[in-house]
Amino acid sequence: MEGMMKAARKTKKEPGLDLVEIPIPKIQPNQVLVKVGATAICGSDIHFYAWDGYAQTRLNPPLTLGHEFAGEIVEVGAAVQDYKLGEHVTADSHIVCGKCDVCKIGLQHICANLKIFGNEVDGSFAQYVAVPETSLWRLPLSTPWDVGAIMEPLGGAVQAVLIEPVTAKSVVIYGDGPIALFAAGVARASGARKVYLVGMVAERLEIAKRMGADTVFNVTQNIDPVQAILDETRVGADVVIEMAGAEASVKNAFKTVRKGGRVTTFGLSPKPFEFDINYSITLRQVTVRGVAGRHMWDTWHLVDGLLESGQLDPRPVITHDLPLEEFDKGFKLITTGSRATGKVLLRPNGM
Ligand SMILES: [Zn+2]
Ligand SMILES: [Zn+2]
Repeated sequence: MEGMMKAARKTKKEPGLDLVEIPIPKIQPNQVLVKVGATAICGSDIHFYAWDGYAQTRLNPPLTLGHEFAGEIVEVGAAVQDYKLGEHVTADSHIVCGKCDVCKIGLQHICANLKIFGNEVDGSFAQYVAVPETSLWRLPLSTPWDVGAIMEPLGGAVQAVLIEPVTAKSVVIYGDGPIALFAAGVARASGARKVYLVGMVAERLEIAKRMGADTVFNVTQNIDPVQAILDETRVGADVVIEMAGAEASVKNAFKTVRKGGRVTTFGLSPKPFEFDINYSITLRQVTVRGVAGRHMWDTWHLVDGLLESGQLDPRPVITHDLPLEEFDKGFKLITTGSRATGKVLLRPNGM
């Protein structure tokens, strides 16, 4: 497709993004062009926006950010076989090779030759994004753009919670970021016995309750969540999902789980720390499952199922919905605002 489009782009190696006019991407034969209905700001985008140490090692501007999105197919490459004009799609943020040993054992999302939208290739903070057929996930026409745009991070929550069953189990979630809030909803929709969430921001804990958490703990209010959960469960929780990544939170996660229970590690800690494996894992026979995002594509199938069942409504987590032009406001809401933000959406096309 010919013409120019608006994009929120990292143009220089410094903080912030620029709203620029650039040509609409030319698609390769194996790609489709997606007109973006909605795109969401991710925690990783915050690092890129701030241009911190992580961003400096990861990004090579100029680059259009954004990897969580949904939209309509407006152009189809000659070699694309299974998608048509006018279909609604979202995408996994991962562009995988499909050929390396890691892909071949079914772990494409950690492919040895992984590329990510808005990290290595131009992403979705733009009116149009070029997407290889192998990264697409079809949406029913009835799925609203806002829900389609957050299915990728929701998939992270689904993988973290459901990597092993939670039916009839007590589930504790550490963290109150958007994926942790999604995780509360996933655990509730999947038949958990009781869902606890431990966080720091009162407004987000309210969202956790709306998502289905039975009990929330605010660690800024002089409450010991470990003791409270041990008191209530007597033996500790069956399943603990660590999504905060802070040292104290990781240590508390292992103090909260029962002997023989499961801890999923999902949050990333800013730096290494000392940790007692003997007591925390080995002697108490705790199962640890590291989760680095969604599996392609069985997690997406679970996301579809949870949404279609009506058991899971992710929308309470979406707190802001802005035109693309107001991207700066969106980022500032997350970084310097009251932190009472869940997912912040951007709409590049007013659709
Ligand atoms: Zn993300
Ligand atoms: Zn691969």
